[in-house]
Amino acid sequence: MATEEETRKSEGKIIKSEDEWRRELTPEQYHILREKGTERAFTGEYAHSKEKGVYLCAACGQELFGSDSKYDSGSGWPSFYQPAAPEQVDNHEDASYGMRRVEVTCSRCGSHLGHVFPDGPQPTGLRYCINSASLKLEPKK
Ligand code: FE
Repeated sequence: MATEEETRKSEGKIIKSEDEWRRELTPEQYHILREKGTERAFTGEYAHSKEKGVYLCAACGQELFGSDSKYDSGSGWPSFYQPAAPEQVDNHEDASYGMRRVEVTCSRCGSHLGHVFPDGPQPTGLRYCINSASLKLEPKK
């Protein structure tokens, strides 16, 4: 019988201990990605970036968002109206801090990215509000 961890690994998921993550990530990245932290608005590296390219998961490198779906929401965090592909992110009900929100995580490594809100632009009407520290931009060559 395969354990849950073996099953997840066979599905291409990345499973690491928190000690491993702590060694590989900066303290800020670890706090946001693994402890569901939030960077302060307007402070993140990509809050206002208009550079073309692909935003990868800062923890595992999975492609998460394309710069073509990035827009300025005025929130102070990188905002996208859709992920690179629906299966790249997972949604979770989040009732922390007395709010009802939908948390977004990387579908490959489970790291926290941010939240998705129903007040985005067309064509999806969604606003993926993502921490810069959870992302790594691979500029278009
Ligand atoms: Fe990831």
